[in-house]
Amino acid sequence: MNIRTRLTLLFVMLVASILLLFSVTIYYLYDQFRAQEFEQRLEEKALTTARFWENVSQALPDDLPAMANEQVTIYDEQGRILYNSNKLLARFPLPSGFIRSVLQKHTQTAHLGDIEAIGVSHSNRQGDKLVIVASAFDRYGFSKLKRLREILFFGWLLCLAITGISGYLFANDALRPVSEIVAQVNTISATNIHQRLRVGRQRDELAYLARTFNDMLTRLEEAFISQKSFVSHASHELRTPLTVMMGQIEVTLLQPRSQADYEAALDGLLDEVKSMIRLVNGLLELARASADATTLNYQPVRIDELLWQAQSHIIQRKPQYEIDIDFENLPAQEEDLVIIAEESLLLTALQNLMENGCKYSPDERVTVRILFESGQVNLIISDNGYGIPRADLPHIFEPFFRSSSTMTVSGHGIGLALTRRIIELHHGQIVVESEVGRGTTFRISLPTQQQTPANRVTSFSSDRERLAGFNH
Ligand code: ADP
Repeated sequence: MNIRTRLTLLFVMLVASILLLFSVTIYYLYDQFRAQEFEQRLEEKALTTARFWENVSQALPDDLPAMANEQVTIYDEQGRILYNSNKLLARFPLPSGFIRSVLQKHTQTAHLGDIEAIGVSHSNRQGDKLVIVASAFDRYGFSKLKRLREILFFGWLLCLAITGISGYLFANDALRPVSEIVAQVNTISATNIHQRLRVGRQRDELAYLARTFNDMLTRLEEAFISQKSFVSHASHELRTPLTVMMGQIEVTLLQPRSQADYEAALDGLLDEVKSMIRLVNGLLELARASADATTLNYQPVRIDELLWQAQSHIIQRKPQYEIDIDFENLPAQEEDLVIIAEESLLLTALQNLMENGCKYSPDERVTVRILFESGQVNLIISDNGYGIPRADLPHIFEPFFRSSSTMTVSGHGIGLALTRRIIELHHGQIVVESEVGRGTTFRISLPTQQQTPANRVTSFSSDRERLAGFNH
C-alpha cells in the first residue's frame, strides 16, 4: 500500500471514529431526554386522572389529549384496583413490590417492551394513600428517535465520503514534492551526474531531503571524477613504459647489432619491466586495501618485528640504503608491542615510507624512531632529503601525485596513497612535515592490541568497507 492510500485511509478512519463517537453520544443523550420528558407527561397524566376521579368519580373526558396505548390505573394501599381508565387494554403488569416501592419513594418507573409506566403516590382528601400507575407508548418520541438515528447514520456516511475525497486530495498535494523528487532522481545517471535536484525556497523536510540528496550527488560526483582520473592516470603510467620499451625495441631492430648492444638494450627493457611490475603491484595492493574487504586477515603482530622485517626486505633489494631503527622508550609490558594488523599490508606501508626516505635523500638514509604511549605506538620516520614544497604537502597522499621537487627520481605516486589507506584501515593516523632542502618526517600512530577491543577486530572489515569509498 503506498503512502498516499495509507494516509487517506488513516485520515478517514480517524474522522469516522470521532464522528461515530459524537453521533452515539448525541443519540444516547437524546434518548435520555425523551425518556425523561415522557416520564413527566405520564406523571402529569397520572395526577390529573387521579384528581378527576376524586372529584367526579369517573373517567377523564375523551377530549383530553391521549397518548398511544394509554392506561391509568388507581390502586389502594393494598394493591386493590380502584379505577382503570382503559379496560380494553390488558392491564400493565406491575413488577412485584412495585406498589410498596412507590409508597416509599413517591414515584417509581417500569417498562415492558416499548410501553413505559410510572407509579405515583397520592393522598386523597380522606388522607388515604393511593398509587396511580400511568402507562403508554411514546409513539412520537420513538419516531423522532428513529428519524435522528437515520439522520446521524446518513450524515456519518456523507462525512466519510467527503473526508475520503478531501483526504486523498490532501495526501496527493502533500506528497507531490516526493513524486517530483523521484521524477528528477530518475533522470540522473552517470552522464549527467552534475545535475542537482530543485530545492526551492521551502524549509520543510522534503527540501531537506532534496538537499541531502544533492550533497550525496556531490560526493558521488567527486568520487566518480577521481575514479575517472585514477583510471586515466593508471593507463598513462602503464602506457609510458610500454611506449619507451617499444621505442627501444624498434631502434634496436633497425640494424644488426653487437652482442653488447643487445645486452644493453635488454637491460634497459628489464628496468622498464621492473618499473611496470612495481606499479602494477602497487595498484593491486591499493585495490586490495580499498575494495576486497573480505580477504583481509587481521592478526596480532609485534610492531618491532614488522619494522625489522621491512628493513631487511629493503636492504636486500637496495643494499646501499641505510635504515636506522631506534627505540625511544621500551613498553612496560610486551603486549604493548602488539597491534592488530593485516601483516602484509602494514609491512608494505612501512616499507614505502622507509624506502621513500632513502630514495628522496642524497645520503640514502632514513631514521625510524619508535615511541610507546599508553594504548598506542608512534612511529617517526624522518630523513634529511630533498623535502617537499609546502604547496605540494596537501596533495602528497593523492594517488599518482608526485612532488615537483623529486621529478628526477623514478616513481609512480602510488606508495603514499596506499600507505595512508593502510594506516586508516588500522585505525591509525599519518601526518607529514617537510621542509625543502632539510628533509621530511612522517608520523604514524597506531592503536595497540589493548586499545583494540575484541569486537573491533571483527569490525575492521566493516570499517574497511566504509573506507572502500576511497578517492582513487
Ligand atoms: P613515488 O615515490 O613512487 O613517487 P609515493 O606515493 O611514495 O610515490 O610518493 C609520492 C610523492 O611524494 C613522491 O613522488 C615524492 O615527490 C613525495 N615524497 C614521498 N616521500 C618523500 C620523502 N621522504 N621526501 C621527499 N619527497 C617525498
